[in-house]
Amino acid sequence: MSECRRGEGAAGRGRLGEGLAGSGRVGGVAARVRLAPGEEEDLRLGRRWFYRTEVAAVEGAPAPGAVVDVLSHRGRFVARGFYNPRSMLAVRVLTEDPDEAVDAGFFRRRITAAWGYRRQVLREDTAACRVVFGEADFLPGLVVDKFGEVLALQTVSLGIDLWKEAVADALTDLLRPAAIYERNDVPVRELEGLDQRTGLLRGSLPAKVVINENGVLFNVDVAGGQKTGHFLDQRFNRAALRPFVAGQRVLDAFTHDGGFGLHAACYGAAEVVAVDVSEAAIEAARANARLNGVEDRMRFITANAFELLRRMVRDGERFDVVILDPPAFAKSRSAAGPAFRGYKEINLRAMRLLPPGGILCTSSCSHHLGEDLFLQAVREAALDARRLLRVIERRTAAPDHPVLLGVDETYYLKCFILQVL
Ligand code: SAH
Repeated sequence: MSECRRGEGAAGRGRLGEGLAGSGRVGGVAARVRLAPGEEEDLRLGRRWFYRTEVAAVEGAPAPGAVVDVLSHRGRFVARGFYNPRSMLAVRVLTEDPDEAVDAGFFRRRITAAWGYRRQVLREDTAACRVVFGEADFLPGLVVDKFGEVLALQTVSLGIDLWKEAVADALTDLLRPAAIYERNDVPVRELEGLDQRTGLLRGSLPAKVVINENGVLFNVDVAGGQKTGHFLDQRFNRAALRPFVAGQRVLDAFTHDGGFGLHAACYGAAEVVAVDVSEAAIEAARANARLNGVEDRMRFITANAFELLRRMVRDGERFDVVILDPPAFAKSRSAAGPAFRGYKEINLRAMRLLPPGGILCTSSCSHHLGEDLFLQAVREAALDARRLLRVIERRTAAPDHPVLLGVDETYYLKCFILQVL
């Protein structure tokens, strides 16, 4: 914060014109942000934003959300991006090309490229997928999920929020959706000075949105479900359960709309116990079980998994397969400590429910807790439980949620399938 004020002070001293006069670039924008010495280095290493504390000065009084040029301390063009003085992330980089203008055509090109990437890596399997994944698609703050004919959209940075209509136009022309639904009920928007809102941007919502994921049907509540309605990132990890579940007793401790548990049931599990603390999630999961005709082999419990698993351990319950896919325990860097203990605790309880040779499918979606720390939490749980772990598969999010190396935030999902010996 104090560095930021220092930056504004520098602007007030009027030193910003130096090195800028007559730059005359195509696509150049009026407002400029000058970095403190050396701060452009992080961009070279892959990061797609500049922190408020890295800005030495601001010229041209850009409106919040406006596009600005970012200059090195010496006045060299570094990037062009969204400016938001209110956010810790003062500039979110859009392009490093000084000749690339940021206009409706820019967003159209980026969205077209994002869709092209999905078609490449998913081939025919694009009926339900993430079309745009923010920074990893060079569209900072934009998330678009496709559920059949319906698109769910989130704009979590002020800059991209101001271009929402252009984004919706581009998506309409490219994908011809029946509806584009805005799911901007996301707390992080407040850090950008944005309000919470949901509603239709284009078209009308069909009465039901049903997707087929690996042969398992899900009714997706785009308007009312968690986040955009269904978690697409885990879909190939759910399919990876297939070899382990036939005839088995399975526990899915954070089931949401039934994700892993339903896959297990459809792959022939003898019994699936699906748990979630949210009554609405359990209702959705139950409805999805009926949709797939597996409700007779699934049991649903609305409960806090930490408490329920403790009781199950005490009561001597046994499962052949346990799935843990909790919400992000670490919502910030400072929460990494408690999150570590949370992951350790829930994994310890899960291991105590498994016989030797049992399968633990354990995930973390906290990007603040990296893969090493997450694995350490799981290993410490195994030590406490006096068990050995054998890694069967190390997995991450589906490739429509690509990881941009250098942007740790994009490598958030870790999923391990382990044998507990
Ligand atoms: N496994 C799901 C996604 C889980 S998201 C899938 O494959 O799509 C995390 C879920 O955990 C949410 O549905 C949330 O309601 C639930 N949850 C959060 N805290 C919980 C707790 N203490 N006990 C049980 N469920 C919890």
